[in-house]
Amino acid sequence: MRRAGALPRLLVAALAVPEGRCYRHCTGALTQRAVRSRLPGIWRVGVCPGGVVSVTSYAEWTVRDPTDRVRAVLRRWSRPPALVRSHDLRLATRHGPELGRTAERFLARQRPARGVRVVYWRVYPSRAKDGTERRLFACFRHGHPTPVFFRADPARPGWACPACAPAPRAGRR
Ligand SMILES: [Zn+2]
Ligand SMILES: [Zn+2]
Repeated sequence: MRRAGALPRLLVAALAVPEGRCYRHCTGALTQRAVRSRLPGIWRVGVCPGGVVSVTSYAEWTVRDPTDRVRAVLRRWSRPPALVRSHDLRLATRHGPELGRTAERFLARQRPARGVRVVYWRVYPSRAKDGTERRLFACFRHGHPTPVFFRADPARPGWACPACAPAPRAGRR
């Protein structure tokens, strides 16, 4: 039996994100990295060729709002956890028409009716105190499939994930 909230294969296929583009950083196409948590739904991390995360999404087939659970998971994955701010999380409910006819018919037959709930997390570019740009990155080297999210300067070569290596001190090379 399927776990409550898990997505049937046809809905997973319908949700496969059409090729997106990097958000206000470069014109590169996004690669959707699949990650996994203890939640029943599916995660996608949209990363550009420069390693910048454009958007992270979590989709679950449920009547409940998964936002609180999604926030808790993202905080566990983020350095620091405060990187995940509630107003950067956005909930959307997909009822079918936007997922294609197969998914729409499938969802229409379900009783009780429930849509696919998708929570999007987007971290907007910011500036550090010294004026350098900060963008969201994800490191996938911590025991697949768990990511580590952190902010770093996209212009600086050799940026380091805080969980992989200590951040280089200012002025040191
Ligand atoms: Zn980019
Ligand atoms: Zn790392």
